[in-house]
Amino acid sequence: MTKRQRIVVVGHGMVGHRFAQAAVERGLTETHDVVVFGEEPRAAYDRVGLTSWFGHPDGAEGLSLLPGGVYDDPRVRLVLDSVVTEIDRAARTVTVVSPPSAGSRDGRQGALLDQRGEPGAVTVHDYDVLVLATGAAPFVPPVEGRGKDGCFVYRTIEDLEAIKAASETATSGVVIGGGLLGLEAANALVQLGLDTHVVEMAPRLMPVQLDDAAGVTLVRHVEKLGVKVHTAVLTEEIEGDSSVTGLRMRQAGTEEGAPTEVVEAQVVVFSAGIRPRDALARECDLETAARGGVLVDEQCRTADPHVFAIGECAAPGGTMYGLVAPGYAMAEVVVDALLDGPGTFTGADMSTKLKLLGVDVASFGDAFATTDGALELTYADAVSGVYKKLVVAESEAGDGSFRLLGGILVGDASAYGTLRPMVSSGLALPDNPEQLILPASSGVQLGMPDEAQVCSCNDVTKADILHAVAEQGCESVADVKQCTRAGTTCGSCVPTVKNLVEEHFASVGKVVDKGLCEHFRLTRQELFDVVAVHGYRRFDDIVEAHGTGRGCDVCKPAIASILASQTSTHILEPVTAELQDTNDKYLGNIQRNGTYSVVPRIPGGEITPEKLIVIGEVARDYGLYTKITGGQRIDLFGARMEQLPAIWKRLVDAGFESGHAYGKSLRTVKSCVGSTWCRFGVQDSVGLAIALELRYRGLRSPHKLKGGVSGCARECAEARGKDFGVIATEKGWNLYVGGNGGATPAHARLLAGDLDTETLVSYLDRFLMYYVRTADRLQRTSTWIEQLEGGLERVREVVVDDSLGLGAELEAEMARHVGGYADEWAATLADPAKLERFVSFVNAPDTPDPTIAFTTERDQIQPIAPALIPVGAPA
Ligand SMILES: Cc1cc2nc3c(=O)[nH]c(=O)nc-3n(C[C@H](O)[C@H](O)[C@H](O)COP(=O)(O)OP(=O)(O)OC[C@H]3O[C@@H](n4cnc5c(N)ncnc54)[C@H](O)[C@@H]3O)c2cc1C
Ligand code: SF4
Repeated sequence: MTKRQRIVVVGHGMVGHRFAQAAVERGLTETHDVVVFGEEPRAAYDRVGLTSWFGHPDGAEGLSLLPGGVYDDPRVRLVLDSVVTEIDRAARTVTVVSPPSAGSRDGRQGALLDQRGEPGAVTVHDYDVLVLATGAAPFVPPVEGRGKDGCFVYRTIEDLEAIKAASETATSGVVIGGGLLGLEAANALVQLGLDTHVVEMAPRLMPVQLDDAAGVTLVRHVEKLGVKVHTAVLTEEIEGDSSVTGLRMRQAGTEEGAPTEVVEAQVVVFSAGIRPRDALARECDLETAARGGVLVDEQCRTADPHVFAIGECAAPGGTMYGLVAPGYAMAEVVVDALLDGPGTFTGADMSTKLKLLGVDVASFGDAFATTDGALELTYADAVSGVYKKLVVAESEAGDGSFRLLGGILVGDASAYGTLRPMVSSGLALPDNPEQLILPASSGVQLGMPDEAQVCSCNDVTKADILHAVAEQGCESVADVKQCTRAGTTCGSCVPTVKNLVEEHFASVGKVVDKGLCEHFRLTRQELFDVVAVHGYRRFDDIVEAHGTGRGCDVCKPAIASILASQTSTHILEPVTAELQDTNDKYLGNIQRNGTYSVVPRIPGGEITPEKLIVIGEVARDYGLYTKITGGQRIDLFGARMEQLPAIWKRLVDAGFESGHAYGKSLRTVKSCVGSTWCRFGVQDSVGLAIALELRYRGLRSPHKLKGGVSGCARECAEARGKDFGVIATEKGWNLYVGGNGGATPAHARLLAGDLDTETLVSYLDRFLMYYVRTADRLQRTSTWIEQLEGGLERVREVVVDDSLGLGAELEAEMARHVGGYADEWAATLADPAKLERFVSFVNAPDTPDPTIAFTTERDQIQPIAPALIPVGAPA
């Protein structure tokens, strides 16, 4: 029998993860064991989507590329929190240092394992094949003062955590670098409430991707977001004693000593480019490229046949690629090489689309018209801030037609998804190519060829997508994403994927499937009606009558939510308990170290001193971390599952009830102090907020819901950032709907004005029930309104004008909910059967989970997240 080979991968970032995943999927683990060492404390996550961490409801978990931290295949072992410090190529070993915090446990069962090697130990591991996937590090230019407190880079979740913490006490921030990442970082600072500046050495923003005219247009957009842009400036010094107080800069091109300008800042983020992390390779005498990066051939192999390099640390043919798509392609090429396949990496598409800023910017192909014979077609509308450029050249066919070489789009990048694939396809453009960028041209059909690459991150062509829908049984965009990986990385191709899927189904005369998941062809709205009409109470009956199979993580909680909003049955009743998400199952929010947070309801944020004392006592007695939230309540963190009932009992006895922080249901109705205390207040905002919170508490909905009530137009309760917001007027109340915070904030819009309290409540009853009935799963009120035919006007017709004659029915449904409400914590305490689930180990109910550990910071507990190592993994 041939001896199994061992592959050691250094780095568990996006590309190291893709390598391990491809090794499993393509059968390399049949013959090879894979051990991946990752320096970060958590498994690989979507670094491309890093900025969304700020608004992601699940924090780091939501970005994880390997939820659970364990590969399905036990032949792949992941060792986190561990740094490879040395490579001995002659002995074929790597030296690894694991810090004391690197525990190890089985991610699937939660059992603590012996540490392989002492904590903090230095261990040496053999390899047959070594794959370097160490990524890149942000470049911090040698500016004086760059080591001061308040200086950050923007690369890891820890960096973002640190920036967020510093922003809490800061008022202004500067980003050094006006490239793609710099603008993303600037947007993050704006979202964190800082007065934000960007300083860029080049004369324009995104100098690598945009030409001068596009740069000017972009500045106008960025400034509208509240970012102050300084181009053509050099940073002279970061000012301050030990902490940053400002940044001193002077005009580029001027001599030292020329006049300078100071921008005040307590936070400075460096985003001045990246450098490949190739030190390990250099130290073991592997060759690196002139501008950094481990030199590799087309198979991503170094001069040492046992060592490969992939991703941002590699420089195939001397070029380092700072994007994820080339890294993914390299990972696949190495797996191919180890399977004796023919794959090679010969370069990559460097197209870029700016995310998150809310500004459409795209640059693709030969955007600077460097190809011989290239011609430029531009369209600019300074008033609306649109600039579009196409770079074209005469086709080689010699028939006078043109082909697309590249382009730049600012202000309207809707054509990006269609145009970018045209570059690789070489397809002849229409006779009047300018039609492609003129405003009236939206919808020009280009007849994208099958080989056009639609998803550049994951190298998925139009043909792959059509194959998925026509041959592999994919019936929705979600299916296609899962099957081909298209659209799963930067997401910019999703609209094109959607069009292709819909076009395909339309062409074969099939209605596009909008079903809830693979088990139900019905939409959530249809399922809601089906449950209402038939009066179902059990998931099994519904799936038997209207679905197939046994359900999944999508349809089970969605149906649990539908049943809860129609029946007021306790969610831990046997018929629905097992359908719930983990949070609902334990009536608490699971946190990163497996403990739960307990959030009692404090309607309208009003609380008596006695109740405050009880919360303090409970927190003290159970050693819980306490935090006052932005939603006017107090979170208690760090409760072990078996402690939850005793904690609730203390709280329930003191008159508290569950704040539903765990459910897709009403969270809070925030209030200002209103007319009772505030000299500006014109109505009792506290009284109304309490009444509304108590009315809608426990209402299960497609997404979590929040409300707010302000006592006057000064809006101290930020009511317009909520799903429903009420603002007092001299005559009554204005009702706003469809707002939210989070990653894609939305301002609520006026539904009806100057309402008396009774009318306001009836409109709110109708609005909320109409939403609960008709929205899709996990659809916020803002998107629901946006996607409803007729939008807000339609909602107004139904809710205010009662155009469908549904008003009374919706109000009656809400009355049933209000009448049937019971506190879920109290009901659980009263039912021994329900209490049985609150144990860490079924066989040892009194044993606390030994993997849960805490440290202390600012006099309170904080979790220590254990590293994850699968049991039974090869040594
Ligand atoms: C904010 C942001 C936005 C981005 N947006 C985009 C985008 O829109 N499109 C795009 O294509 N790309 C984007 N990128 C770039 C993209 O994230 C990278 O190209 C990609 O993550 C590179 O993957 P990698 O695995 O090579 O490196 P990484 O993901 O950085 O992973 C390398 C890992 O190796 C670990 N490591 C390093 N040395 C060692 C060692 N000695 N021992 C153990 N572990 C080690 C590191 O800690 C790290 O976890 C963005 C990057 C950032 C930061
Ligand atoms: S919103 Fe008006 S009433 Fe309420 S606290 Fe602010 S100023 Fe006072």
